[in-house]
Amino acid sequence: MALGKLEALHRRVVDCRRCPRLVAYREEVAQRKRAAHRHEPYWGRPVPGWGDPQARLLVVGLAPAAHGANRTGRMFTGDGPYGAGNFLMAALHRAGLANQPFSCSQDDGLSLYGVYLTAVVRCAPPGHRPTPEEIQRCIPYLAEELEMLQQVQAIVALGRLAFAGTVVVASYHPSRQNTQTGRLTPQMLDDVLALAQRWANKKGAEPRPLSRTL
Ligand code: SF4
Repeated sequence: MALGKLEALHRRVVDCRRCPRLVAYREEVAQRKRAAHRHEPYWGRPVPGWGDPQARLLVVGLAPAAHGANRTGRMFTGDGPYGAGNFLMAALHRAGLANQPFSCSQDDGLSLYGVYLTAVVRCAPPGHRPTPEEIQRCIPYLAEELEMLQQVQAIVALGRLAFAGTVVVASYHPSRQNTQTGRLTPQMLDDVLALAQRWANKKGAEPRPLSRTL
């Protein structure tokens, strides 16, 4: 995998303005801000994927959170103590895939090992609901990313994502609505990651052309 190509893709992603509704929303949120973060700069742009370029495991979310990744500029980062980012990072830490169990800012010291985090849609959508047209417009970035992450052997799809091909292990999204109601418990996400890791580390598994499965 050419790291330069992945970085070039990320530069294109953060400059993207293909979806007028999402561009307006992400920038409006970045101006308005949440009271708790009113003195902080907001990213307010598309959020690229991040993690280990040699990852064998890919975790795919739906889209950045308005006051989480749209604020910090990093996937699954900064959406609060009980947000999806910390819930997921605690599970990745228990699985030996992250060096710490929280994710709050770009300079929080977090490192990921063997796992890469990305999303179907790169801009925060109103109500966390992108339209089908917005998903279609953004999906090519995910396809390109998958093509460059050539070691990926298993995918954990968080939320209502449906794509077939190389092993997909689906889980409820670690949103507050799911984690605070017990629909998704830490043990359940541990089990999902353990299953995905077993597949990702299967001996003799050949990398497959993931981009063609989207
Ligand atoms: S959602 Fe994707 S395609 Fe639409 S503006 Fe953001 S980065 Fe571009």
